[in-house]
Amino acid sequence: INGLGILIGALILIFFMRISLRKPGQYDSIEQGIKRKEFIPYYQPIIDIQNGRLAGCEVLVRWRKADGSIVSPGHFIDIAEASGLARPMTSLLMEKVAQDLSVSYSRHPHLKVAINLFNRHFDDLGIVSEIEQTFGNSGVRFNQLVFEITERQPLENLDRARAIIARMQKLGVRVALDDAGTGHGGFAYLQKLGMNIIKIDKLFVDAITSGCDSVPIVDSLRQMAKGMDMVVVAEGVETEEQLDYLRRTGIDEAQGYIFAPPLPARAYLELVGALGG
Ligand code: C2E
Ligand code: CA
Ligand code: CA
Ligand code: CA
Repeated sequence: INGLGILIGALILIFFMRISLRKPGQYDSIEQGIKRKEFIPYYQPIIDIQNGRLAGCEVLVRWRKADGSIVSPGHFIDIAEASGLARPMTSLLMEKVAQDLSVSYSRHPHLKVAINLFNRHFDDLGIVSEIEQTFGNSGVRFNQLVFEITERQPLENLDRARAIIARMQKLGVRVALDDAGTGHGGFAYLQKLGMNIIKIDKLFVDAITSGCDSVPIVDSLRQMAKGMDMVVVAEGVETEEQLDYLRRTGIDEAQGYIFAPPLPARAYLELVGALGG
């Protein structure tokens, strides 16, 4: 029993050492990655499912490492956020988005581009001046920009967030509630924050199966949004059945593998050239 106790103690010690050693290591390499501009935007097309036209895209970050490998955000986004690197990473992305899309978006003024923000961005007004500076002299107009805020984690100070959102909207940019239905937010949250767009999380789109004629969460989110004059976007659409249901019940826009995965800039720009109208 004594031997076993020592063994377990040693294992626990090793476990915690590994955790405490890993964090700073990953932090350093994310910081290096930002310095080397290895975080790049991929662009997932968003389709207006009522008329079939391209409506724009969502920016999804990818880490393109020096060896050419592409890493998905699931592997680094939480660490970036926890270690205070969320804002510099977003700044880098926004600059790249302005570069990538300027020429093409000035030719297609109806296209929008949605960028994911972190809760940290709602601590102060910095994000508003940053948006102004980054996009003010670019070919991407403020009214083409959408900023997504997730409902997954609660915002710390709703009144402050409301004030920051109002300043963003005064510039002409729109704000979307991301992952709607997954959080604690609901109706009060939407009303308090004054969002323009609601994005129904993939979890609920997955609940749409063949032959079903009502999907309670999707339906109630849609009704709530329509009552507040918001645009509704469904994410993670993979099947014809899902698309058919969403279209039939009056959802405005959708994104998902049924149309396209997140694409590198060049591939998205080719699509805009072909479909942008
Ligand atoms: P999200 O904002 O909900 O983005 C949608 C995720 O679903 C993306 O994963 C996208 O690639 C994936 N997806 C899209 N269509 C389909 C589909 O039809 N089937 C399936 N299975 N998946 C689909 P991704 O790119 O791995 O991003 C994961 C999450 O990481 C995002 O979820 C978002 O919360 C976060 N994220 C990604 N990029 C950024 C960023 O630049 N800033 C911030 N703050 N968060 C980001
Ligand atoms: Ca999003
Ligand atoms: Ca989303
Ligand atoms: Ca989601």
